[in-house]
Amino acid sequence: MSERPSDPTSGPDFAALNGWDRDFTVFDDFDLPSYVGPATFAKLPWVTDPAELRARGVDVAIVGAPFDDMVTHRPGARFGPRAIREAQYSTGSLHSLQLRVEPFEVLTVVDAGDANIVPAYHERAHAMIHRKVLEVAGTGAIPIILGGDHSITWPAATAIAEVRRPSSVGIVHFDAHADTAPDSWGQIASHGSPMRRLIESGAIEGRNFVQVGLRGYWPPVDVLDWMRDHGLRYHFMTEMEERGSEAVIADAIAEALDGPESVYLSVDIDVVDPGLAPGTGTPEPGGMLTRELLRAVRQIVGAVDLAGMDIVEVAPPYDWAESTAMIANRVALEAISALALKRRAGERVRWER
Ligand code: MN
Ligand code: MN
Repeated sequence: MSERPSDPTSGPDFAALNGWDRDFTVFDDFDLPSYVGPATFAKLPWVTDPAELRARGVDVAIVGAPFDDMVTHRPGARFGPRAIREAQYSTGSLHSLQLRVEPFEVLTVVDAGDANIVPAYHERAHAMIHRKVLEVAGTGAIPIILGGDHSITWPAATAIAEVRRPSSVGIVHFDAHADTAPDSWGQIASHGSPMRRLIESGAIEGRNFVQVGLRGYWPPVDVLDWMRDHGLRYHFMTEMEERGSEAVIADAIAEALDGPESVYLSVDIDVVDPGLAPGTGTPEPGGMLTRELLRAVRQIVGAVDLAGMDIVEVAPPYDWAESTAMIANRVALEAISALALKRRAGERVRWER
């Protein structure tokens, strides 16, 4: 029998010849550089099966909602979840210098994957986001949902309110805009209306809706009148300038918890000044500093029972320096680190009925 030319036992041993046969350390995905291997959040395990989430006792689960069909201006946020997952250069067991905790040592955190989204079918997309968040939150894990345009908060926060109990969850909403319009050109599911839908459906009580960072030229005055008449609370950017962010956030926490037991945190990245976070569909000048938002997230998550959270409106096509995706990534990390501190102090983090 003639030897095949490709037989590895024949011919020179090139690995030995070139010095490639030595013992090199092999790293697992978690410890490899962030640009190597699958693009999960913080290189955490990708676990989509609810039974597996339950079996592992997952504390926090990242969920992607890559959907932007409901924007009223510039699209692009469908690419947000992937960009936010990628916007981190450190890997392995991250250490929060602010909170002095290694969150992934203290908590079980995974990436639970994306909702089953296809384009150009918004009813289906919202149904799939609702199902996915319900499934994940039903295991006791706290979902951190990466958008997506802000319309995803309607199904996502509804699912959280169902798992906890309707009207038992307050909402702290960081946004330049109130997102409480009755509709946009007749469309009730647009990204200008999710908060209105949550309140009108009874998932969230109007008086436990707290808006932070409002500024600019939207919504129109009749929408602001509706908010006032229905007891919604809102803090303008100018109030934060005058009183300082920490004092305003302390009030926001008290208002969200005026009745409810837990808080859903919704962070529209356009609350940050567009000079710092340009990658969004509806940029509004005069916003929060990045450090103020990160501090506010630590303050809120440290003080409340966090039921769920979303970070929305990151639109990578306009994010020329990737700073917007980085801010969104750190918003998630700050929340996870603040939850880790609570766990270390013996407080409950996972939802146990
Ligand atoms: Mn918004
Ligand atoms: Mn907005």
